[in-house]
Amino acid sequence: MNAPHKFVNWAATESSNPEKFLKPSNQEELVEIVNSAINANSKIRVVGAGHSWSSVACTDHWLITLDNYCNVLSIDKEAKQITVEAGLRIKELNVILKDNGLALSNLGSISEQSIAGAISTGTHGTGIKFSILSTQILALTLVNGKGELVSLDHEKDADLFKAALVSLGALGIISTVTIQCEELFNLEEFAYPVEFDEGVKRIPELLKEHEHMKLWWFPHVKELQVYCQNRTKAEHLNTGLFIRWVDEKILAKYIFTFLLNLGLWFPTLTAPINRIIKILKFKKEHRIDYSYRVFNTPMPPKHHEAEYAIPVEKAGEAMLQIRKMIDERRLHVNFLMEVRFVKADDCLISPAFGRDTCYVGAYKAGDRGWKEYLHGFEEIMAAYDGRPHWGKEFSIDKNAIGQLYPELERFQAVREQMDPNNVFANRFVREYIM
Ligand SMILES: Cc1cc2nc3c(=O)[nH]c(=O)nc-3n(C[C@H](O)[C@H](O)[C@H](O)COP(=O)(O)OP(=O)(O)OC[C@H]3O[C@@H](n4cnc5c(N)ncnc54)[C@H](O)[C@@H]3O)c2cc1C
Repeated sequence: MNAPHKFVNWAATESSNPEKFLKPSNQEELVEIVNSAINANSKIRVVGAGHSWSSVACTDHWLITLDNYCNVLSIDKEAKQITVEAGLRIKELNVILKDNGLALSNLGSISEQSIAGAISTGTHGTGIKFSILSTQILALTLVNGKGELVSLDHEKDADLFKAALVSLGALGIISTVTIQCEELFNLEEFAYPVEFDEGVKRIPELLKEHEHMKLWWFPHVKELQVYCQNRTKAEHLNTGLFIRWVDEKILAKYIFTFLLNLGLWFPTLTAPINRIIKILKFKKEHRIDYSYRVFNTPMPPKHHEAEYAIPVEKAGEAMLQIRKMIDERRLHVNFLMEVRFVKADDCLISPAFGRDTCYVGAYKAGDRGWKEYLHGFEEIMAAYDGRPHWGKEFSIDKNAIGQLYPELERFQAVREQMDPNNVFANRFVREYIM
């Protein structure tokens, strides 16, 4: 229960050396751990799958994993609701739901995260009529910093519930969550390349026409790839299954990684390499499958990642600015820019709080040139009042955060009420939230 343990996140951008590493397997143990931490005057952090780029999950005090606390507690098929222990990984949840004729309404691009970890940083997918994953939560229980078990409900607990839905582990340990699901559904996906400026121009119409839509662009390439996904009653259609297998198992894993490394050794080759990747990856595709298989993409190679939420109507303008900045500063950017769309919500510190949002993601493999790219990207995001994704990389400070998140003070008041002794305040929380 108490072995030395070094924590390193998935992307290997952050690490810490927790004094204790604990693996509770029931709710009583969660309460016990919090009480022990209070008595020992120590601090606690829960880690989900460690898939955040930021240091949000790091601590040198007590780190808790809920990998042994991940059972399904109940399923109400009629109401399409499921209650689970918070350590459950979304990839397992997807299959459990499918076996019960249910599905999550929307997902991010992977399902490796734990359900509590995903909602805690405001994880989102794409679809302008769909808000972040946290908004699919109907109720949750939490062991707060006083060792109390608190049950929160979307109908009763206004501020507290809206704070807890995106709470960066700062209010306590999320113990169980009840999720509103929908009937199992298939998604039909069309993907195709389009010339960059033309794609940018068509954003408003693509948003009207499709339930879920995202854009991928490799810097230095003339085209971007449009992905459109809509619910359908049609049967699964997986033409090109072999090509997809090659794509996922060989192209994404080996060829893409090899080309990335080549570009890291010889940065001036980045543009031609991106064009080769574009030829391999940006093509017409059509498939119909279970929603979670279409929402998710193959796990990418390790890379740096920053993502900002800006007003949806600024999407095209921001994309043009980013392309211009990369060209003018002669940056060698070897990884995707991803553009997604999310409906406004009312979770107090959600990046999509109060405004329909375009999430712009700037990604880059390797350390070389990352800081320059991040700063250029953040200058542009600042011009659109961009709010950083809490689970990704950013370099803006607390003052900027205070200006960007209009309900930060309300969140701070809830945090003080839930955790007056700062048991759940790690460096990240102290630096940006307190
Ligand atoms: C390859 C890849 C693809 C990604 N795709 C997307 C995407 O499409 N959309 C998107 O928005 N994000 C995406 N992310 C980011 C990811 O969804 C978030 O960073 C998410 O928070 C990670 O979940 P996790 O379970 O790994 O949590 P961790 O990173 O381990 O922890 C995140 C936060 O949750 C807290 N936490 C975890 N469990 C609990 C609990 N039980 N109680 C209280 N607090 C808890 C931690 O303390 C920490 O503050 C991606 C990440 C990777 C690596």
